[in-house]
Amino acid sequence: MIDFHCHLDLYPDPISVADQCVAEGVHVLAVTTAPSAWRTSRELLEREGRVRVALGLHPQLAHLRATETAIFEAEISGAAYVGEIGLDGGPEYSDHRAVQAKVFATLLAACARVGGRIMSLHSRHAAEAVMDAIEAQPGAGTAVLHWFTGNADDLSRAVGLDCWYSVGPAMLTSKKGRALAARMPRDRILTETDGPFAKVQNETLYPWHAQNAVEDLSRVWNEPIAEVESQLTANLRALVARHKSSS
Ligand code: MN
Repeated sequence: MIDFHCHLDLYPDPISVADQCVAEGVHVLAVTTAPSAWRTSRELLEREGRVRVALGLHPQLAHLRATETAIFEAEISGAAYVGEIGLDGGPEYSDHRAVQAKVFATLLAACARVGGRIMSLHSRHAAEAVMDAIEAQPGAGTAVLHWFTGNADDLSRAVGLDCWYSVGPAMLTSKKGRALAARMPRDRILTETDGPFAKVQNETLYPWHAQNAVEDLSRVWNEPIAEVESQLTANLRALVARHKSSS
């Protein structure tokens, strides 16, 4: 099982959740929201072969943490995974668009300087701007668009840019989310939960609830669950293999 976008450090008891991921056999990409928190999160939460902790600066915090781009730049050579980074075009962040764009461009440039990274990207209400930024920095690595909510044209453009996608139970409960997932290339999809932020029927998602997304994909693709699982496992292997030299 794969949870490629989870805020492990934000559960009330992150260490026991990390341990339970090992017990349940979940591969987790634990994204973080501030570069200053990365080292501690990594020390506490990384679990060999199971839980990896990504270096991130969340776009919703960009205006508060802009100076931490320097920490990101200092740490990037030791980080195989990056996230959560990106842009948020929601009206509540409209005053911070310029700083968000500047921070995101700085982070992408840092990734490019070290040969590219696997990046979990936030693109809420900002699909076009995120793709403009990716296009402007082609050496930044592999963009994994998490919980993508763009329209069909945005998705076509993302496919042209060779983006990957992580889809979760919250996204796949909506008709629009399922329609987008159906159009994503099957060899570019991973599952996620976005826990503990994301909820389904008011229940907080944990990494092992990525299994719900596997079941949803089985219906969307009209394929048996075992077939979906082997596709997702092959996808994760292919993604890691393409960045082997950078970790
Ligand atoms: Mn997130």
